[in-house]
Amino acid sequence: MIIVPEREIADLMTREAAFEAVENVFAAMAAEQAYNFPVVREAIGHVEALYGFKGGFDRAGMTLGLKAGGYWPNNLETQGIINHQSTVFLFDPDTGRVSAMVGGNLLTALRTAAASSVSIKHLARDDAKVMGMIGAGHQATFQLRAALEQRAFEKVIGWNLHPEMLGNLEKVADEAGVPFEAVELDGMTEADVIISITSSFDEILTTGHVSPGTHLACMGTDTAGKQEVAPALLSKSKVFTDEVAQSISIGEAQHAIAAGLIRGEDITQIGAVINGAHPGRSSDEDVTLFDGTGVGLQDLAVAASVVDLAVKSGVAIEVDV
Ligand code: NAD
Repeated sequence: MIIVPEREIADLMTREAAFEAVENVFAAMAAEQAYNFPVVREAIGHVEALYGFKGGFDRAGMTLGLKAGGYWPNNLETQGIINHQSTVFLFDPDTGRVSAMVGGNLLTALRTAAASSVSIKHLARDDAKVMGMIGAGHQATFQLRAALEQRAFEKVIGWNLHPEMLGNLEKVADEAGVPFEAVELDGMTEADVIISITSSFDEILTTGHVSPGTHLACMGTDTAGKQEVAPALLSKSKVFTDEVAQSISIGEAQHAIAAGLIRGEDITQIGAVINGAHPGRSSDEDVTLFDGTGVGLQDLAVAASVVDLAVKSGVAIEVDV
């Protein structure tokens, strides 16, 4: 078995490799070459932790495994380590032998940013100039950094419930050489692409905040009850997702479905656009919305990619199990 410790991931994994891994696995899912297993997530009744597994099998990439981990809300305060903790385990699909154990914390941020970037590549207008951000926490910086590579953006605008955090976005925009401006929600009408990545349980963006032709990537809603946009925005948009089953149960679409505004059949897997089976955006006036719920196969794809990079660069640790 190969071990790639968390401390090695930053030097090994690139945004380009994460993008390629996630784009390929989304395509494999739509081609029914890859599927996710039912997610297990449990409050274990100890230190308020939420623990679970996300797994799957990708026949195209020959990747089998799971990500185990979750959320320990007191970690930072009591242990000085981050609250989200995860590890990916890969298995040989031919024999069932464990093949790798990979630190999953940084990979989670990279694969989540890659997902919205894949949606921007395939669904945003080619001439998109203004990048809008809703949210300014840990994930938001990864999201923005990756998104800015997808189009020739000339400006970043940002809104956050806690405005004191907007400096996190400004720093990333500065590094990319793109000016940053904090705006009120009404100012989001200027954006050609909007990413939302918050822990919100109430709608933030409504139809009046989004101009025709915008591409929205809703990335924060990954649990029943969470919400970032008004259900009416989904009925006015062309809706895409990583996985329809998750989109309607734990993703942004859960609310529009519950309100009877859209049906599961109205939601398209982004992989179908990648594969050329669905045209995606059909006009410069369409609002496209990607409901990024986060699937286990994304984690396995980036973990497999980083294992290859670790072996090539000689930092993989090999152990007998
Ligand atoms: P974080 O704690 O670093 O940042 C949270 C962000 O949400 C901040 O911008 C904060 O100001 C904002 N926020 C907090 N409470 C809010 C509220 N009630 N209303 C509106 N905004 C609020 O968290 P993070 O690590 O950046 O994660 C952000 C979200 O992304 C979480 O909901 C997390 O579950 C989700 N997430 C999704 C995926 C995926 O694959 N889709 C992957 C990882 C994380």
